[in-house]
Amino acid sequence: MNKERIDKIISTSLNIPRNMAKLQIRRGKVKVDGAVARDPSLHFDVDACEIEYKGEKIGYNKFRYIMLNKPKGVLSASSDKTRRTVVDLVDESLRRHDLAPVGRLDKDTTGLILITNDGEFAHNIISPKRQVEKTYIAVLDGDLPSDASARFAAGIVLADGTKCLPAALEALSPNVARVVIMEGKYHQIKRMFGVLGLGVNELKRVAIGGLALPDDLEEGRSRELTTAEISLIFKNCVQH
Ligand code: URA
Repeated sequence: MNKERIDKIISTSLNIPRNMAKLQIRRGKVKVDGAVARDPSLHFDVDACEIEYKGEKIGYNKFRYIMLNKPKGVLSASSDKTRRTVVDLVDESLRRHDLAPVGRLDKDTTGLILITNDGEFAHNIISPKRQVEKTYIAVLDGDLPSDASARFAAGIVLADGTKCLPAALEALSPNVARVVIMEGKYHQIKRMFGVLGLGVNELKRVAIGGLALPDDLEEGRSRELTTAEISLIFKNCVQH
């Protein structure tokens, strides 16, 4: 049984705000199993009912899971009065009014960001308890010290005294590192390198859990995640 309020079902299916869905229902535009449903607060089993809007059967997909290759200069937010957000970049065919980014990337950070309307899914990715790895490539303004990996593995203490969880650092060249963290503190990677006396010139997120940013997803482009890709995100993380 999967009971939901009819106004929520209509709002989600038609991608319209809830108050507009209520209006359509009160106007008698919605039928459930052939009978007009005029009360927006009524609950129906979405798996067992046939729901029609203006005579057309509606498909109900409650949650949407999207990946975006974030370009520089775009805000990790749902909306903003003046600036472009990651949700603004979502392909028109996938857009819905209730989408939000999963966590944040800084405005100048590029790469993989997930966007969804499933709050529990988002929480599971962000929560340090689940230990979903986030992998970044950082281009630094100087050379890595020889003890960089050991210090990241021990857990960096940030300038304000905050202790980070152990992180993996692999030097890809004297001033480029692959870093894997399992949390998402504000400016975390930049602040971790700050402790080593290094600035971050470029930062790109290349994977979340076992899901790598696909090579063929160009900057600024988005697409829906497959079920297999959703499972990859949680591969190797702590299960509850
Ligand atoms: N750490 C940062 O410093 N910035 C990001 O955007 C992500 C992780």
